[in-house]
Amino acid sequence: MERAEILEWLLETDESRLEELWRKADETRQDCVGSDVHLRGLIEVSNRCVRECAYCGISACAPKVERYLMSREEILDCADRAKACGFGTVVMQAGETPAITGEWMAGIIREIKARTGLAITLSLGEREESELRAWKEAGADRYLLRFETTDPELYLEIHPSLPGTVSDRIAQLMGMREIGFEIGTGVMVGIPGQTWETLAQDIWTFRDYDMDMIGIGPYLPSPGTPLDGELGQRLTIRAGDQQVPNDPLTTLKALALTRLVCPRTNIPSTTALATLDPGSGRANGLLRGANVIMPNLTPPHYRVLYQIYPGKAGLHETVDITVARIRTQIEALGRTVGQGPGTSPRMKGQA
Ligand code: SAH
Repeated sequence: MERAEILEWLLETDESRLEELWRKADETRQDCVGSDVHLRGLIEVSNRCVRECAYCGISACAPKVERYLMSREEILDCADRAKACGFGTVVMQAGETPAITGEWMAGIIREIKARTGLAITLSLGEREESELRAWKEAGADRYLLRFETTDPELYLEIHPSLPGTVSDRIAQLMGMREIGFEIGTGVMVGIPGQTWETLAQDIWTFRDYDMDMIGIGPYLPSPGTPLDGELGQRLTIRAGDQQVPNDPLTTLKALALTRLVCPRTNIPSTTALATLDPGSGRANGLLRGANVIMPNLTPPHYRVLYQIYPGKAGLHETVDITVARIRTQIEALGRTVGQGPGTSPRMKGQA
């Protein structure tokens, strides 16, 4: 696929033409990563955060949020649960916080590895290289850090307290790959200020760096955040008629195109998409390129406090119900639940 075609597809409105895009994405997914849907159990370790990302409901400047940090025992219980549910991976995600020290997290990683043998993915924001190395050594396998947008100006506007530029963030991802992590990135679709050209460039950038995992979800406005207020209005006006909408259709186009430009990558059907379109978001993601789902294992009383956006799908469900529903959904689509860690094909190729 050529760079120019991405933009053309993003702007396509003809339903019969779009059927062709969906078919190509689904065929490519089948040919390159097969019918397995890998389940990665998500543990939202802490909602504490020192950053002020303009879109995020748990950023440091969201004053009303009650903050928590799960205990080591609580995290280990969730990991045991992931193992008991038959998942191949646990994902530990949190705000960027010094409350999660390098040493404490390394101890937890070691213990999860020893008890469960599961693959471990981290999504803990920008961290020191020494910490990343220690976590890799302790047994972590993957790191997720979305670059959020390739527009350098927009990146700075929505990340007022991050120390670097988007190039710095991509350099960090490359550093993580050097250390030995599988790396994952991604963007939100339809953030104020995102133009069609920017989104096309975002997708092209996934390909440039041959990312192992790519998460794409719609931007969901979080009440009280700058991006849901004046900043968002200003950025939307600036983008004018080039502003990308944060709707399911555009998200699915971005997802399908990502599958076409990165055929072997692991792509989740995101919770954000399931939140925006509770009826069919999750299934449509799986039908249009995705091969991963991340069921939420966070205990419900913490889950309600980890609202990066409001009304997250499955907010009040028990883990058992979430998992049963997802399994049924996968099977109803004629797909199979993946066994084992679901390692990135790029990584397997190196082994
Ligand atoms: N602190 C970690 C984890 C962030 S949450 C980090 O910074 O990497 C994971 C992802 O959720 C973010 O990278 C962002 O792309 C997405 N997200 C945050 N706020 C959102 C919102 N309002 N709508 C949709 N997605 C959002």
